[in-house]
Amino acid sequence: MDDLYQTLGVERNASASELKTAYRKLANRYHPDKPTGDAEQFKKVSEAYQVLSDDQKRAQYDRFGTADPQMGGGGPGGMDINDMFGGIFDEFFGGAGQSRRAQKQALDVQYQVSISLEEAVFGKELQIEIPATTVCPKCHGQGSIQVSHGFIAMQQTCPVCRGSGRVQDTSTSARKINVKIPQGIDNGDQIRVQGGGYTNNGQTGDLYVQVLVKEHALFKRDRTHLACQIPVDFVTAALGGEIDVPTLTGKVRLKIPPGTQTNSQLRLRGRGMPPLKKGGIMGDLLCSVLVETPVKLNLKQQKLLHEFQSSLIESQNPKMMQWFKSIKSFFRIKE
Ligand SMILES: [Zn+2]
Repeated sequence: MDDLYQTLGVERNASASELKTAYRKLANRYHPDKPTGDAEQFKKVSEAYQVLSDDQKRAQYDRFGTADPQMGGGGPGGMDINDMFGGIFDEFFGGAGQSRRAQKQALDVQYQVSISLEEAVFGKELQIEIPATTVCPKCHGQGSIQVSHGFIAMQQTCPVCRGSGRVQDTSTSARKINVKIPQGIDNGDQIRVQGGGYTNNGQTGDLYVQVLVKEHALFKRDRTHLACQIPVDFVTAALGGEIDVPTLTGKVRLKIPPGTQTNSQLRLRGRGMPPLKKGGIMGDLLCSVLVETPVKLNLKQQKLLHEFQSSLIESQNPKMMQWFKSIKSFFRIKE
């Protein structure tokens, strides 16, 4: 297993908020919908964050180098350091509590769901089916088996159930759990449904639903803010006017001030994403103006523009004026 801190590119003493920032950045970069996407890396980063953002799992990872028998420390057939030394560590760290906790984590269910940006705006209800389970026939619900190496007998994570003590029971129908994805959820956010996991020996694991928000064709998201590009014809850019702008909650009129330049940012307040936290404020929609130069002009249009051009005075193109000044002074220095 890779070092989880290295995976997220943070120090071992990183704070919760540093972890979150690092995770968001990487999750955004590796999101499978992005040109820079990398599903394998995305999974690694998500798994690393899942462990390090959970105080209990992080403490266990710092101590044992693994957080969860399901997550690759042991794996099927593999030897898990936590199991090998389980007996010793249990004595040091408060008895059976540690292994009970590890067993409970093995009952957790991980689930990934992909939603659209529109669904992230309005929130979504979904139903998740948790398959029924029955006692593992290999370890009889213990989660571990004894393996003999010569004279030495060692405990090993059960390769059949991977330590959970349960296997899928196809004879019984699945349990259905309704999960509410709240408005404003961001890519990579995780919803925990307490008690939504598997049950074994009177313990029930949790259900973790990780939400992936797909890229949108028109809008780029930055937390609660959205950004889009809007082409504006050069006459409207010069004279000013109003245009219809699509937002995720319907069309909005946007005022274009006279003399608007290309790359100007026009802000539509409160037209971004809803806040995830209660009492938070709606994000904004940032419209980046792209002034379009008309193409394939006919003779009459060309004549009009020539007339218009001859009517222009220098100060009406301030950037050009500034540019020519700079060029002049540049050559003067050179001489
Ligand atoms: Zn088993």
